[in-house]
Amino acid sequence: MTTAPRIAVIGAGLAGLAAATRLVKTGHDVTVYEARDRVGGRVWSETITAAGTDHVIERGAEFVLNGYTTLRSYCTEHGLDLVDTGMSYYIRKPADRPEVTTQAMATLGKQAAAAAATGRSARSVADVLDGIGAAGPVREALESRIEVSTAVRIDQVTAEETLDHVASFEPGPSWRIGGGNQSLPNAMAGNLGERIRFGTKIEAIAQTDDKVIISTGNHSEFYDYSVVALPFGVLNYSTTLGIDLPNWKREAMTRVVQGNAAKLHLALDKTPETSAVMSVADRFWTWTAMASGGEVAPVLNCFGGELGHLETLGIDGNGKEWEKRVRDLRSDLSIAPLDAILTAWPYDPLAKGAYTAHAPGFSTHDAEALAAPHGRLFFAGEYIDREFTGLMEGALRSGDRAAQAIISISAGIAA
Ligand SMILES: Cc1cc2nc3c(=O)[nH]c(=O)nc-3n(C[C@H](O)[C@H](O)[C@H](O)COP(=O)(O)OP(=O)(O)OC[C@H]3O[C@@H](n4cnc5c(N)ncnc54)[C@H](O)[C@@H]3O)c2cc1C
Repeated sequence: MTTAPRIAVIGAGLAGLAAATRLVKTGHDVTVYEARDRVGGRVWSETITAAGTDHVIERGAEFVLNGYTTLRSYCTEHGLDLVDTGMSYYIRKPADRPEVTTQAMATLGKQAAAAAATGRSARSVADVLDGIGAAGPVREALESRIEVSTAVRIDQVTAEETLDHVASFEPGPSWRIGGGNQSLPNAMAGNLGERIRFGTKIEAIAQTDDKVIISTGNHSEFYDYSVVALPFGVLNYSTTLGIDLPNWKREAMTRVVQGNAAKLHLALDKTPETSAVMSVADRFWTWTAMASGGEVAPVLNCFGGELGHLETLGIDGNGKEWEKRVRDLRSDLSIAPLDAILTAWPYDPLAKGAYTAHAPGFSTHDAEALAAPHGRLFFAGEYIDREFTGLMEGALRSGDRAAQAIISISAGIAA
């Protein structure tokens, strides 16, 4: 009788949970190691009290966008519904540039996307905008829009995928998972039960010819395979994680760029209309959106991207400067005289940033190297999926693929 292969999944974000879910379904013996006391990682739903009631806020990932087929099928599998936000993630009014219309931004954005799709591949967004002669306040607003969404500067990121998904300009609908996005990782974790070890930070991942050795402090355990579903920032910059990554993978990782973002949530006194308003100069946007009940929540959501601008907004301190600028930008709303809730992802030691994008020069070869296993180590995480890099959909797809690779190997062994 053969025993089921033992698999260690490192990280209980969407990528790790997807891998664990698929592996358990196919009869593998899975243990998930998670350093936090909750699942979801960069998907983190909490509540804020506003206008006398509690409302769900997303401190990490918020919008379910076009093409999220895997996320939708995971939601169906776990009995979860998507809720229309009633506003479009894609279209934001540049309030501090009143002469720029959202239509003008969309026209230039689409022109840039078309140029990126036809010209030399893997150029930066800055190169593409220069190439089409974009200039003036519309370019400035577009640059800001793209830097906020990619969470890096436009000279640091490739144009193709960026202009396709992250900073698309069609006024399409955008959704959230009913009850909060964290409902999905929570439901997945519910099915995994005691296979998840919370509060267990992995400090070293090593391998021999036939085993993977997972170490937490002075305790080590042996597995047949591991799915390393750690954030790119942790894998790339950590000095506390001992993991032997091959040079070919390290080389590809140099062409992944770490985005940095933060969020701010403010309670409103009254129910607003839906809205999406950005600050071009300060690289943040703000929105009000519908919640599960179909009513607009009395909550002002704010997202800022790109580290240099975030530091100017004071997110490395208490975020009060950002709060002040938000109150100025959204003087149309009745904002309660309560402290805002700040979430600063660059300083979260278990994330070390928000999400990734591709640096100029990123190639198909790099994408393959990021996704490729190294011995008995398989990799998952938002940074691996080429089409949905940086997004919840990409995290889930990468987890599914890592699991499938292990399933294929163990099926071969069992045959
Ligand atoms: C502010 C913000 C806004 C976003 N907005 C959107 C959006 O609107 N739409 C969208 O689709 N996506 C969005 N995203 C991106 C989305 O959150 C991520 O792409 C996705 O959640 C990443 O999942 P993951 O499993 O790859 O990584 P993570 O969710 O980071 O999971 C990795 C896990 O590993 C754990 N871990 C770290 N170190 C260790 C260790 N040493 N030992 C054990 N465990 C460890 C972490 O605690 C974490 O739980 C946003 C992200 C942020 C930060």
